[in-house]
Amino acid sequence: MAHLLSKTVPALTRMLNPQAVLQESKRFLNVHEYVSYTILKNNGIPVPKFGVAKSGPEAAKIAKDLGTKDLVIKAQVLTGGRGKGHFKGGLKGGVKLVYSPEEAGDLSSQMIGDYLITKQTGEAGRICNMVMITERKYPRKEYYFCIMMERAFGGPVIIASSQGGVNIEDVAAENPDAILKIPIDVVEGLSAAKALDVAQKLGFGDRAKEISEMFLKVYQLFVKSDALMVELNPLAEDSNGEFISLDAKIRFDDNADFRQKEIFSFRDWAQEDEKEVEAAKHNLNYIALDGDIGCLVNGAGLAMATMDIIKLHGGAPANFLDVGGGATAAQVKEAFKIITADPKVHAIMVNIFGGIMRCDVIAEGIIAAAKELNLKTPIIARLQGTNVDDAKVLIASSGLKILACDNLDEAARLAVKLSGIVKLARSAKVDINFEIPI
Ligand code: GDP
Ligand code: MN
Repeated sequence: MAHLLSKTVPALTRMLNPQAVLQESKRFLNVHEYVSYTILKNNGIPVPKFGVAKSGPEAAKIAKDLGTKDLVIKAQVLTGGRGKGHFKGGLKGGVKLVYSPEEAGDLSSQMIGDYLITKQTGEAGRICNMVMITERKYPRKEYYFCIMMERAFGGPVIIASSQGGVNIEDVAAENPDAILKIPIDVVEGLSAAKALDVAQKLGFGDRAKEISEMFLKVYQLFVKSDALMVELNPLAEDSNGEFISLDAKIRFDDNADFRQKEIFSFRDWAQEDEKEVEAAKHNLNYIALDGDIGCLVNGAGLAMATMDIIKLHGGAPANFLDVGGGATAAQVKEAFKIITADPKVHAIMVNIFGGIMRCDVIAEGIIAAAKELNLKTPIIARLQGTNVDDAKVLIASSGLKILACDNLDEAARLAVKLSGIVKLARSAKVDINFEIPI
C-alpha cells in the first residue's frame, strides 16, 4: 500500500495529513520548470531570464542572447533532486553552473538524449529532451513559499518558511515550528491583510508589503489556472536585494483540462510511465505498482478495497486500474492489454460491481481480450450487480479458463494462491494448466 500512496499523493500532503493519503488516487498534470517560469513571468512574479533548448547549438545561442557569462543549465526532467542526480552516460548533476555559451552548448549536448537518475526516478531514470538555460543569480537568503489544495484544510493552504532552498520535508522533520500553515477560505480568497501577515511572519520586515503583493499574484494565478500546487523553492533574495523565484513547481488539476487547454498542451508525455500514458489515452486510470496480481476494477474505492484484500491474503497488487463507471468492452480489452504487458503479472483479479456498468459488457471484454491476446495468465472474475447472470453464462460458455467467483474474499484468496503457483511454474518454465483443483 505504501508504494501506491507514495505514487498518488505528494510527500507534502502526507506530511500535512497522514490520514488523507487513504482517501484518493488523484491524477494531476506536472509541467516542466520552463513552463512554470513562463506562467510565473506572465503573472508578474519575477524569475531569472531564461530560454529552453532541444539541442546543444540551440542552447549555446540562447546562452549568448542572455548576455551574461554566468549561466545555469537545468535538465528539464520531471523529477525533484535534479541537482544531486546523475546521467546514465556518466555526467554528474542535472543542474550545472557554466561560464560561457560554448560550455552551455557542450553540457546541453551531453544532457539531451540521456536519462537523468535522481532519488525519485529509480535506476531507469527519465529522459532529458530539453534543457533550460538561465542567468545565474546570487541568492543571499532563501525562503519557501507554496500554495496548495489540501483536503486536511478543505481548500487552499499557504505553506511557507524562512528556511527555503532545501527539502521542505526535512525542515518539517527537524523543526516543525519553522513552517507556517495558513489555510485560505476559497470563497473569500486571500486578503491583502492576510498576505501581509504571512510576509511579516516570515521576517520580510520593511519589504513585507512588496512581498505580500507577490503572494497575492501567486494566489490569483493558482485560482485562475486551476492549480493544485504552486511552489516557489527557493523564493530567493538575490545580491541586489531583489526577490525572485529560483525553482518552481506547478501542478494542475487533471479535471480542469477542458478549460486550461493551453496549459495542458504543455503536457510532456515522454516524462510519464508508458503504460500510464496508454491508459490515459483510453480514459483508464492506471497506476503501476510492484506486486504480481493485476487488478481490473471499476471505481477508485473498490480498487482500494481490492488491493487491501489482496494484501490481507498475503499477495501484492501489480497495479491500480480503475476502468470507471461506464467502460465499454473495448476499454476493458485495452485494460487487459496494459495489465498483461507487465511481465510480473501472474494472475489477474477482476472485481466489478455492475451498476451503470453492466457485468455482461465486462464479461464480453474479458472474453475478447483473453482470446485476442491469447492470455496465459489466470483470470479470477468477481462480478456482482447488473446483468450478472448473463455475464456468468457468457463466461461459462466461452470455453476459456476464467474462474468466476461471487465472493470477494474467496476471489482474493484464489488470486493470491494462483499467482504464487504461476510464478513458480513460470520460473521453472513449466506450462501450467490452472484448472487443477485448488
Ligand atoms: P532541483 O535539484 O531539481 O531541486 O533543482 P534546483 O532548481 O533547485 O537546482 C539545484 C541547485 O542548483 C539549487 O539548489 C542551487 O544550489 C543551484 N542553483 C540553481 N540555480 C541557481 C542560481 O541561479 N544561482 C546559484 N547560485 N545556484 C543555483
Ligand atoms: Mn530545488
